[in-house]
This record gives sequence, C-alpha cells and structure tokens, in this order.
Amino acid sequence: MLADGRKDGGRRRRQRQRRWQRRQRQQRRWAAALASLVLACCTLVPCACSADSEPAREPNAGSGKLEVKNDLLLPEVPGEGEGASDAAEAPAAPESSPAPSAEELRASLGIVEDYRAGFDHGEKGPAHQKYIMLHDTEGESGPRDVVDFWDGNGNLVAAHFVVGKDGSIVQCVPLDRIAHHAGFGDTGHNALYGVEDESRDDRLGTVSIGSWASDYGMNSFSIGIEMVHVGGSGEYPEAQLEALDALIAYIDAYYGFESQIIDHKAWRSGNSDTSPEFAAYLANYQTARTHDGV
Ligand SMILES: [Zn+2]
Repeated sequence: MLADGRKDGGRRRRQRQRRWQRRQRQQRRWAAALASLVLACCTLVPCACSADSEPAREPNAGSGKLEVKNDLLLPEVPGEGEGASDAAEAPAAPESSPAPSAEELRASLGIVEDYRAGFDHGEKGPAHQKYIMLHDTEGESGPRDVVDFWDGNGNLVAAHFVVGKDGSIVQCVPLDRIAHHAGFGDTGHNALYGVEDESRDDRLGTVSIGSWASDYGMNSFSIGIEMVHVGGSGEYPEAQLEALDALIAYIDAYYGFESQIIDHKAWRSGNSDTSPEFAAYLANYQTARTHDGV
C-alpha cells in the first residue's frame, strides 16, 4: 500500500507538472502573439523598440532564454488604457499558480544517483549552461548497466543522465559538473554554438579524432542525456519519452531558464544519434519541450 501511495503521489505531481508545462507553453504563444503585435506597431509608429536595434544573435543559441524573457512580460500584457482594444481580442491570460520547484520535479522522477568520480571533469554552474544534448546509447542495456559499462571501459566518458525504456533514470554526474558526453565536435562548431574550450575542463581521457573535429567546448556548456535505444530498432516507448519530458522540465527549473535542446549529431557530423525515428520528437522538444509538442 505504501508503494501504491507513492505511485499515486508521483502521478499527481507529474499531472501537476504537465498542467504547468501546458500553461508555460500557452504563455509563450501569447508572448509571441504580443511580440508580433508590437513589431507590427513599430512598423507604423516610430519608437524605441525598433527591430533594427535588436542585437545580433549567434546561430543556434539563446532562443530559450529569449522565451523566458517574453514570459516576464506577461503580467503587463492585457490592456487597460492604451491598446485596450487590441488586448480585447487577445486570448485570456493564463490562470496563475505556483510552478513546481526543481526539488518537486526531481522528486517526481525517482532519479537514482550513481555518481562515479572518473566521470567528473570540472565545475559547470548556471553561467556555463547553454544546451541539453540528447543521445541514444546504441544498446539495449538498462541505465545501471550502461553506467557500469562506461565506468569499466576507462574512457572517462559519460552523460549526466541515462533514461531507460521503462522511464527509469540514473544520474551519474551532478548537474553542476562537466561530463564528457559530447566529445569532440566539428572544427568551427565552438564558434557556431557559442562555446569554448577552457580550463574548467580537465580534459582527462580525451583523445584527438582528427583535425576535422577539434572543438571540445560543448562538454563544458551542456547537460547530456542518453536514451536507451538502438537506432533503427523501432519506436521509443511512451514511458521513456514522458520521463524525458519530465527530466527536461526539471533541468529547466534547476537552472531557471530553458537551455537549447540539440542532439549529438548536430555537434559532430556523422554521429548516429539521435536516430531517424526520433526526428519528429526532437523537433517537438526544440519547439515545445515535450516529445508530443503538447
Ligand atoms: Zn551520443
């Protein structure tokens, strides 16, 4: 009965989390609609917020943070006084309720901590967090066996999390520490992704794979998540995808902003992960931060 009670509690927390995620997405859509309205106004009436004055943004970086900023505008949106007629046509403001804390979200996930000293390659606080990188393990072994395999091969390579097909999650590197999950990326990708090689990363265990892939900065600026999956083997189970949804929501809450979501092959050309059957999910994660985009 105790176990059933815990399951019910976890289900309720996940339902609450999903409702909160839906509200966040509604807020983002409303903020985007507002941004379009403001931009339209700016094309007609000269004002300080000219689109020409917006600072240039590096490719593939920072969109999540921009959305968070848009959320901060929300309480000021529905119009009273000037612009009230425009606001009257806008969707109703979302109901307010406190967002679940990072601790609550983590508790709902039932994460098993299995930290291994060899996987820790240096400090990585919020100031050095930009990306969540998704991987496939390319094997059928469960998360605990994956971590044992990484620890046993001596390469000192690991991701922060491994998500099993049943939705179970093992964490083997803390969020504020560097893991060597991304490895080397294409030469030039440090600049493309706005990351850099630096001394926080001890670089232990790294071995060059050639001049075509010389950039290592992604490891110092990202969280790695491995999904137990073999490319081409079929669908990702719903339990695994829902666990990934919740894990990303937890990481967002932990840092207080939305990191950009990419997969491993974006960083290094020729990588197999994530699989072709994950492509639609990846697109949904990148736009809505859930596998189904809902
Ligand atoms: Zn990978």
